[in-house]
Amino acid sequence: MNYLCPACNGLAALAKECPRCGQLLSDAGRLYDYYGDYSPYREIDDAKMDNGYPDRHNHQCLHTGWCPHCQEEHMIIVQEWTPAMLEQLFT
Ligand SMILES: [Zn+2]
Ligand SMILES: [Zn+2]
Repeated sequence: MNYLCPACNGLAALAKECPRCGQLLSDAGRLYDYYGDYSPYREIDDAKMDNGYPDRHNHQCLHTGWCPHCQEEHMIIVQEWTPAMLEQLFT
């Protein structure tokens, strides 16, 4: 089963407001990118298991949003798209 994060794959923009001030956060990249160089998906899956979040099970991708107003990072949880959703999109 190929679940796909729409934000990682450029299919959708992140649209999440800052919980503090309500401004739209800018996408600062995947959370996992901070663990090192770009790594293939297999390793991202491993990182998902290690970081304590239940995102692997729920097919969620963790991103980092940056609020230019608060100068603060916030975690953005992106729900990954299912194969069925992708099929609808591309057929
Ligand atoms: Zn993602
Ligand atoms: Zn803010």
